[in-house]
Amino acid sequence: MIYLDYAATSPVSKEVADAVCQTLTQDFSNPSAQYAPGLRVKQRLEDWRGIISNALDCDPERLIFTSCGTESDNWAISAACWQNRHIGRHVITTAVEHNAILKYCEKIKNNNWRVTYIQPDKNGDIYTQDILNAITPETALISVMLVNNETGNRYPVETIAREVSKINPDILLHTDAVQGFLKIPFSARTSGLDFISISAHKIGGPKGIGALYISPRVKNPRPFIFGGGQERGLRSGTEATSQIAGFAKAVEIYQDFLKSPKYQDFLNLRAYAVQALQSVPDCVMIGGGNNPAPHILSAALTGWPSQNIINDLSAQNIYISAGSACHRGKISHVTAALKLSKKMAQSAFRLSFGPDTTKADIDACIQALRRHHDTRFPML
Ligand code: PLP
Repeated sequence: MIYLDYAATSPVSKEVADAVCQTLTQDFSNPSAQYAPGLRVKQRLEDWRGIISNALDCDPERLIFTSCGTESDNWAISAACWQNRHIGRHVITTAVEHNAILKYCEKIKNNNWRVTYIQPDKNGDIYTQDILNAITPETALISVMLVNNETGNRYPVETIAREVSKINPDILLHTDAVQGFLKIPFSARTSGLDFISISAHKIGGPKGIGALYISPRVKNPRPFIFGGGQERGLRSGTEATSQIAGFAKAVEIYQDFLKSPKYQDFLNLRAYAVQALQSVPDCVMIGGGNNPAPHILSAALTGWPSQNIINDLSAQNIYISAGSACHRGKISHVTAALKLSKKMAQSAFRLSFGPDTTKADIDACIQALRRHHDTRFPML
């Protein structure tokens, strides 16, 4: 099987599965239990938090576990809006965020919040100046993702944070770092951001576990889930210890990968794929901008419907996606924001890479795309 959909999710290694399994079957105690095995699991929980917070470059107590990146995103918006409600009811975000942000923004609009959506340019880039121009005295929160999940565009969140703080230091800043965490250099400590969302399953961890970084600037963060008071009273619910164990193991393995010679090859994969796609007739790149993240690209085989491409490649055990996995075949809001022609948007596909992706995988995929072009009629 050739798997080129790491931005949707990634395979779990045996070590990660073993870490999960060990915590499910042996170290299974509730970390709130007061007897020895419970206390041991509590200690492990803090060790795992330490590993993940170290990778994000923040103090462990700033990192709160959640059930997924989506929860982290929803919570960040909810907590920031609550904290800054005295300033005003205005949020700035981008038109190309994940739905975990966009749908929550729709929800708060029902409560009299106003949301400004910054548009990308035709290459998918978002400009700091456009964000700054949108600030009003009522702006409470700015949320801009670190890496776009469909196009691989990186967004200048650190610059945005620095420039916003000069205009109004009270504005809170969030980044959805679900696709950027460990994929591009990034430090919570130096970022100037107040909330950072991450998720395990994009880096070889289990699905259903994420975390939210909350900066010391957020004095009394409002919990999103109320109950037994776990996670410093901020996120109740018995801690998902097995998932967290897997998350921490995945982080360790990914960090080893970042130090390995294999990582240098990985960094070249996107450029290699872009070059190879030029040999496919009617294939055009979508977004990416000047300085894309190394693991995601979008393109279109203009005239050939995405779903047909995916089905054809899938029949050959080559797995790619039509944009974000969350859109299930509909034209995505990201391609819409890039103002592509309808024909191009309906022909879009995404390739995304992980530590085990090889140039041979990409070659096989490109060959299959070329065959698809040469043997199927364009339907659009
Ligand atoms: N944010 C981005 C940019 C994503 O790509 C995803 C998942 O695809 C999410 C948030 C949601 O993460 P999760 O699947 O952990 O809820």
